[in-house]
Amino acid sequence: MIYIILAFLIVIAAIYIIKMGAAFGGLPVLNYHKISSGNNADFLTVNTAELRKHFNYLNKMGYTTIFISDVLAHIEQKKPLPAKPVMITLDDGYRDNYTSLYPLLKEYNIKANIFLVGGFIQSPDNKHQDPNPMGEFLFVHEALEMSKDMVEFGLHTYSHQSYSKLSLPEIDADLKKTKERLQKLGIPVQPCHAYTFGAYNQKDDNKRQAMFELLQQNDVRLAFRVSNWVDKLPIQNNYFVSRIHVSGLFSFFTFKVAVWGFIKIINRFEKIMK
Ligand SMILES: [Zn+2]
Repeated sequence: MIYIILAFLIVIAAIYIIKMGAAFGGLPVLNYHKISSGNNADFLTVNTAELRKHFNYLNKMGYTTIFISDVLAHIEQKKPLPAKPVMITLDDGYRDNYTSLYPLLKEYNIKANIFLVGGFIQSPDNKHQDPNPMGEFLFVHEALEMSKDMVEFGLHTYSHQSYSKLSLPEIDADLKKTKERLQKLGIPVQPCHAYTFGAYNQKDDNKRQAMFELLQQNDVRLAFRVSNWVDKLPIQNNYFVSRIHVSGLFSFFTFKVAVWGFIKIINRFEKIMK
């Protein structure tokens, strides 16, 4: 029995090693949400004590953090990426990304990419959004300050709707509305989108393809999902780039496994053990 289990584990490990990209010069794209300066941590909240360990590890191991614009220049102009590239991304645009994350980005010289929910940004013209049940979001001047050095921005819908529940014309309108608002606020945005809830129409291939075409028509040239794989380089599909969710409940070891591209093995193992 033990040999069968061992053989099974070896086969599973082999499949994962083949599928994951880190060992073959892939691009790990890490996906965070909220950053807490206190002790609290949950699925979406990483505290600064843990984040310091993450940043310290990436620097110590010789990773170079890159912007969305670096990935686009690599894809479109064949500009080389640094030897060990890694992307830090954060979704939704929480205010703690300015108060808790931004000082650490400067301290560790780490670049980050934040996907903004257009209608959630705090500005004099949208006080009605306050208080937002999802949390507190960035003020315009905070986003602008971060965009000067350590942060690039991308799109993440107007009010955090799931594109898998919207029709194609509704998605088209949402993309336009989101871009228009960010432009009106003067926030520079990369031609890049992150799907809310991590994915888009995984089961309907035709609708997914039509969605990719819509993104292209709206000059969105890169789009991210969450599938917990490390992307192989060159990137296979610009509209379906994989990211790895970083939970605040990860141990430091689990974080390292995630960067290496093996987090799915841990997830599966935990499921078997339950
Ligand atoms: Zn989101």
